[in-house]
Amino acid sequence: MIEAPLIDSFGRIHDNLRISVTDRCNIRCFYCMPETDVHFVPRAEILDFEEIERFARIAASLGVTKLRVTGGEPLLRRDLPALIRRLAAIPGIRDLALTTNGVLLPQLAGPLYDAGLRRLNVHIDTLDRERFARITRRDDLPKVLAGLDAAKRLGYAAIKLNAVAVKNLVEPDIVPLARYARENGFEPRYIEFMPLDAQGLWDRRKVLLADDIIETLSREISPLIPVPNRDPRAPATEYQYADGGGRVGFIASVSRPFCLNCNRLRITADGKLRYCLFAIEEDDVKALMRSGAPDGEIATLVRRNVAGKWEGHEINTARFVPPPRPMYQIGG
Ligand code: SAM
Ligand code: SF4
Repeated sequence: MIEAPLIDSFGRIHDNLRISVTDRCNIRCFYCMPETDVHFVPRAEILDFEEIERFARIAASLGVTKLRVTGGEPLLRRDLPALIRRLAAIPGIRDLALTTNGVLLPQLAGPLYDAGLRRLNVHIDTLDRERFARITRRDDLPKVLAGLDAAKRLGYAAIKLNAVAVKNLVEPDIVPLARYARENGFEPRYIEFMPLDAQGLWDRRKVLLADDIIETLSREISPLIPVPNRDPRAPATEYQYADGGGRVGFIASVSRPFCLNCNRLRITADGKLRYCLFAIEEDDVKALMRSGAPDGEIATLVRRNVAGKWEGHEINTARFVPPPRPMYQIGG
């Protein structure tokens, strides 16, 4: 029974929770993690499966219907399929998805499918092995491609490819990746590079803008036409090829911020609740849980967090302050 929706002071209803299950990662994308000296949260500080499931149930009782499991690299979390099974069984959850870098998908695509997972976002910026290694500081492209193959053969209902759009770097990859996606029935989603990297490398001039990618794909493959959004609160702006060859999504957080439609909440691997990727403040769910607080008290914390949500990030203004934690610690 849902008492009242999770609504903020701007009238946005929150029904979407992203759960980070680890801050660890097996690769080192330069726009997310430092190359060395990465500081991970001690294991004891990471929510266990009971705590994650409990929080997801409380969120579902407040009207959350969509869950996405992310990280760090979620496939590094031991027994992840067991967690997926538990999350998929929560009453009220209608949509469960996972974001992964795909390196461990060859082994885990099957067990995750068996656990009830049907939607996957696989992070891949390039089909060029050398550039993949330069971006991720690891030579794992063949594993990611094998993982995508495995997922396709298993029949996942929707496989999206997340590609981070960094200017003066991935331009040569835009068309090959889009063609590969078309040929395999995957949907590419180009994500504008956001100021969430661990080394403070972000600069607006390093963002490859959605409009430039749309122009390139329209010219080189087939004209892209906007699809009227089925879910107006979805972060991706969807386009389809005029020749019927599939869809392409754009997460244009920099050039077309979608904050006014945001319906998302996040819980970090160490149990901190965030109302925005760029939030400065967090609420400590783990501390509350570990002090023996009843569900009602945790629900109150969630309501308070949502009620205090800001209007939106201000990436495009001089007022913007990057969040104190980089992407891998928050959960993208
Ligand atoms: N490790 C998994 C992965 O890479 O998909 C899940 C976590 S990762 C933080 C989630 C997504 O964040 C990735 O798919 C990547 O596309 C995106 N990402 C990471 N750093 C980013 C940045 N600075 N700007 C935009 N997107 C970023
Ligand atoms: Fe790891 Fe994902 Fe961050 Fe890349 S974007 S370093 S794969 S957490």
